[in-house]
Amino acid sequence: MLANSYRLRLFAASLLIALLGTLSTAQAKRASQDSGSATTVVIDAGHGGYDRGGIPGQQVAEKDMTLDVAQRLKRVLAAGGYRVVMTRDSDVFVSLGGRVAIANSYPNALFVCIHFNSAKRMGAGGIETYFYSRDSLPLASAIHYFVAGGAPSSNRGVRRRGYYVLRKTNIPAVLVECGFLTNPTEAAYAQTASYRQKLAEEIAAGVHGRNSVTSALTTTRVATGENIPLQPYIDQTKVAKSERPRSKRSHKKSARRKKSSSKPAESKTKAASKDQEG
Ligand SMILES: [Zn+2]
Repeated sequence: MLANSYRLRLFAASLLIALLGTLSTAQAKRASQDSGSATTVVIDAGHGGYDRGGIPGQQVAEKDMTLDVAQRLKRVLAAGGYRVVMTRDSDVFVSLGGRVAIANSYPNALFVCIHFNSAKRMGAGGIETYFYSRDSLPLASAIHYFVAGGAPSSNRGVRRRGYYVLRKTNIPAVLVECGFLTNPTEAAYAQTASYRQKLAEEIAAGVHGRNSVTSALTTTRVATGENIPLQPYIDQTKVAKSERPRSKRSHKKSARRKKSSSKPAESKTKAASKDQEG
């Protein structure tokens, strides 16, 4: 028995050593990536100015929450040695074209759009992260891994969608929906500074881990076929049809609607679309 437990401990120790070896290799790789010229991150706080974001009558203005998280993210990333550019740093309106132009003027940068979700159905909740280009998937997976992992909200997955700001940017671009402001629980979290700080730190962790989270962890916990659908978004929360009318989505200019190839999926997508706003 003694020999067995000794062997077991020896085995556990060698596993640990192997694991540490992998981690230090990843850290070294990351350090070499980040050395030299600092990585630039363009942070895009959703909405602003007359564009409050969210849905009509929404109590908590999305534009205030996105700006606060963006500014916190700026501080966290700057402290981590990143060069940070903000598409807006105050309560002003910036057009989507303007946001994209800023992002594209930094060819080696990363683009992170911060939004909160909204729905007429109060129960709708969760974290979801969007990407469009294949090059953006590692960043989306990493940000989602940390944000969804650190949030009390449900995990709505990483999704591919042709939002204007994702489609028109030439650099890795991710849009993270940090919870539903129309959900009482998630809105309460969002209104606490400590939670917004946590969101910022989780997003920063995703930026930092964008090249190391993609492998083992991602394939098991994030990048499954289930939660990175390349087909149009189909809502799992089964929203009633009565909630369907929702026309104020122009600010997102989703490319999805222009493609009418798959009609059944398209109609489902439309029915579900009020559950997420961007
Ligand atoms: Zn939004």
